Amino acid sequence: MGFDTDVLPSGEIFVGGEWMRGRGADIISTFPADRSLNRVVAGASAEDVESAIDRAATAQAAGWGEAKAQERAAVLHRISDGIAAAVDRISFIQTRDTGKTLTETRALAMSAAGTFRYFASVLETADEDATVRRADTLTLSLHEPIGLVSAITPWNSPIASDAQKVAPALAAGNAVLLKPASWSPLVGLELARIAEAAGLPKGLLSVLPGAGSIVGEMLVTHPAIGRVSFTGGTSVGRGIARKAAEKLMPVSLELGGKSPTIVFADADLDLALAGVLFGIFSSTGQSCIAGSRLYVERSIYERFLDRLVKATEALVVGHPFDAATQVAPLVHDDHRASVEAFVASGIADGGEVLAGGARPTGNLYDRGVYYLPTIVAGLPASAHLVREEVFGPVLTVFPFDDEEEVVRLGNDNHYGLACGVFTRDTPKAMRVGRRIASGTVWINTYKQFSISTPFGGVKESGVGREKGRNGLFAYMNQKSYYLDLGGRPHPWARIG
Ligand code: NDP
Repeated sequence: MGFDTDVLPSGEIFVGGEWMRGRGADIISTFPADRSLNRVVAGASAEDVESAIDRAATAQAAGWGEAKAQERAAVLHRISDGIAAAVDRISFIQTRDTGKTLTETRALAMSAAGTFRYFASVLETADEDATVRRADTLTLSLHEPIGLVSAITPWNSPIASDAQKVAPALAAGNAVLLKPASWSPLVGLELARIAEAAGLPKGLLSVLPGAGSIVGEMLVTHPAIGRVSFTGGTSVGRGIARKAAEKLMPVSLELGGKSPTIVFADADLDLALAGVLFGIFSSTGQSCIAGSRLYVERSIYERFLDRLVKATEALVVGHPFDAATQVAPLVHDDHRASVEAFVASGIADGGEVLAGGARPTGNLYDRGVYYLPTIVAGLPASAHLVREEVFGPVLTVFPFDDEEEVVRLGNDNHYGLACGVFTRDTPKAMRVGRRIASGTVWINTYKQFSISTPFGGVKESGVGREKGRNGLFAYMNQKSYYLDLGGRPHPWARIG
């Protein structure tokens, strides 16, 4: 990778189409692999947010919402092309910001380009409905832009989660105020640079890194904001839902998870092993959909676990720029401290650490925020480590005896984001998938994604769906029209 830190965004923020030093608190972005400084970003202040909102309202009213589908789609295509042309740079920036491997951040950048392309196509091919006639009226159900939309995103996959909100919201004719997480402020700013170069009219996109408690709050509570799309933790999401309820404003919430993976004895065990490893340890476990609870049918439990432990210990923990690396550093020292506290709680609750459970040591590892892929067995279902989201490379494992039991165990959690089922018996896989409360079911695979397939959670994993064709309409208001065809005054008025 032929980049150095010169290519990182400058530290200015993008307020209503202008690059400026934010007037809020500084945000310090560091590289988790060695803690070197990326950038000090001058974060947004309340005044900056107010100015971004004013400019967004002016820009949206100036014609974007009224623009023809093909005109908006053309801009989205140019943004997609801009992202595709900058994949290496975006990937470098995101790896510096989050510590994820270049292999992964490259895939995320490509997916972001695909997201803009997809929503440009959805916009150009979306149909509006004339509804069935039940009177002397032509009845139409049409969609209109909401106006101003806030997008609030977490640090784990910023370019992908930013694109998943910004692309449909812009396609739908809105202006967007994007607040990236404070641990990963840089990629969103790069997206702003690309959108600006693609000719997105000034003011339609602002990128406002800044404190969640100031910038995030304002982007929810400000009266001009008509919708919030949030991805992040459940407790912040719940607070946003409460504030949105005060305004009676729609929100979508993509929240945390504690997803079960189920391996039946009749599974293709190579598929299952690869799925389990990828499901929990890719992205160093920092993934909302991580398969963090593993249930293995008792007749193969010992044999499967033996292979799983060996394969886990063989994973390459290394520098994110190294192509051989499978498990890169965690995002931040504070986050590693939280992962360590979870593992300590598991041990205190009687868990047995079968793999990992510690930091790796040595030169490379001492410089960065590394943690070994970890497997813990023998925990009661009530343990904190089994119930709560770690958001790190920690897998809890359990045997089960039959389908009934594993459905009960799989559902014994307050989250409901995803689940994995490994078996050669397709009807059984479908049956179990239907009975597990989750937004996504993977069968004989895990952590696969497609922009055309809706995504979201049930229970405390969220409200609403992103992606898919309806992802566009989520950023629009539906309006019904009745057009009189009878030409006679209403009889109630008795004027005819
Ligand atoms: P947080 O909930 O802590 O933060 C998410 C975003 O919300 C950040 O931009 C944060 O800003 C902002 N924020 C914080 N407080 C407020 C507030 N009061 N009002 C408005 N915005 C606020 O999550 P993390 O960034 O730590 O991300 C990890 C979480 O995200 C995990 O729980 C994970 O499961 C979830 N997630 C869910 C996904 C899904 O699709 N279901 C996908 C990816 C992650 P700041 O950083 O400045 O605090």
